[in-house]
Amino acid sequence: MSDRYARLVNAPIAGPIARRVGLPQPVRLERHRPGDPALRGLALLGTAPGGRLAQAVAEVLAQAGVDTATETPSDQRFKALVFDASAIADSTELVELQSFFHPTVGLLERCGRVIVLGTAPAACATPRAATAQRALEGFTRSLGKELGGRGVTVQLVYVAPGAEDELASTLRFLLSPRSAYVSGQVIRVGEPPRVDTPAGRDRAVGDAPSSDAPSSDAASSDAASSDAAPSVAAPSEIDWEQPLAGRVALVTGASRGIGAAIAQTLAREGARVAGLDVPALGDELRAAMQPLGGSAIGLDITSPEAPAAIVERFPEGLDVLVHNAGVTRDRTLAKMPAERWSELMAINLSSEERINDALLGAGALRAGGRIVCVSSMSGIAGNSGQTNYATSKAGVIGMVQALAPLLTDGQTINAVAPGFIETQMTAKMPIAIREAGRRMSSLAQGGLPIDVAETIAWFAHPASGAVNGNVVRVCGQNLLGA
Ligand code: NAD
Repeated sequence: MSDRYARLVNAPIAGPIARRVGLPQPVRLERHRPGDPALRGLALLGTAPGGRLAQAVAEVLAQAGVDTATETPSDQRFKALVFDASAIADSTELVELQSFFHPTVGLLERCGRVIVLGTAPAACATPRAATAQRALEGFTRSLGKELGGRGVTVQLVYVAPGAEDELASTLRFLLSPRSAYVSGQVIRVGEPPRVDTPAGRDRAVGDAPSSDAPSSDAASSDAASSDAAPSVAAPSEIDWEQPLAGRVALVTGASRGIGAAIAQTLAREGARVAGLDVPALGDELRAAMQPLGGSAIGLDITSPEAPAAIVERFPEGLDVLVHNAGVTRDRTLAKMPAERWSELMAINLSSEERINDALLGAGALRAGGRIVCVSSMSGIAGNSGQTNYATSKAGVIGMVQALAPLLTDGQTINAVAPGFIETQMTAKMPIAIREAGRRMSSLAQGGLPIDVAETIAWFAHPASGAVNGNVVRVCGQNLLGA
């Protein structure tokens, strides 16, 4: 679905008029192209005194081939500003943010990136430190709103003590155009995951695999019947263009919209993809999977046999499961019949629980496996006419938070919460609501399915083992909700 307004207000004649009368002029967001550098420009690194992350950040960026600076020559422009605020331990020290960003924020290029790194308040040693670290959220969210008009995104990453070496996939994602429509988010990088399987017992996921670990060479061409894939890899061994090579991914609701984009993106990252959708969309699903060399599974996820059928379909287990299938059945509560409520809840939430239970119960999610759920901004902010939908999507967040600490073997579960994404679902909205959905965000435009897919690919990344239990909005920092 095309955004005619954005094209009009950026056209040669209408553009200057729009600017004069103060209409929002959404910038054309940069998006990832295969083979792109990790950052299209220079990164400026700063640290509040005593920061424990500066060195780790410098190492990740050097490994990624990013040019960095720690000083600001007067004629220099920057594509990214990265500030280590992890050691700020008192509200009086928050002025370090002002000292670093005040002179540099105007030097940011269009579609630039700002990342503030902190220590999660719960991990702070004193109430004052926890207070100061919590304050970083207000700073980053406000800066996101100030800079969004230029396509700049701003994030806060809380890094757990001991997780200093777990930043590679997260920094690369947030710096790159892959995160074009993610802004104002608080991301938590936790402790390094441990692998508990006999082959990898007591081995951190980032450590080098032992020689008897499963090899990616054993990959078969059929996504649904693979041999064992590598579950662990050292960051230096990761192919950053094809990090999912040898891994098997299942995407539900894959015949169109966001699900099709997820399948394409995971295949681009090297995964062997299986797409699942209702049998009635069999032709569309096969057409979507065929160019990816993926397999098509016609199955209604609400059917009683669906969980067992999925487990059976992957006798060697799954590396990535993306719960994307979902529906809306909007009505205000006063007009909501029980079947409208129950049908939606079965698709959006209960079937995901049943599939997770079956998969985990059968040990069919491999070591280092990833479950990624698709929630919604409505599940965070609520929405009139969507009590059923918002309940289901808030439930998805609850499921992620409840399961995250229970997973073993370096497995993770996370969720994306899309805001307004240009798909068939949003194309059906009345025009006024559609326009409001697009413009009411810091980036003043709707997102694309690829933006959700790129975020899922970051969660699915083998180096994202310390990213567990997160809910990240892909909403251009929509003004609704937290
Ligand atoms: P879509 O309607 O284009 O695609 C959803 C897919 O799920 C369809 O292919 C559909 O056939 C499949 N599906 C539905 N019921 C199923 C079932 N019982 N079994 C198997 N497959 C089933 O929607 P979309 O916009 O691409 O949304 C994808 C996901 O993103 C959904 O979970 C949706 O709630 C979520 N989401 C979308 C937006 C948005 O702006 N488009 C915003 C927030 C969240």
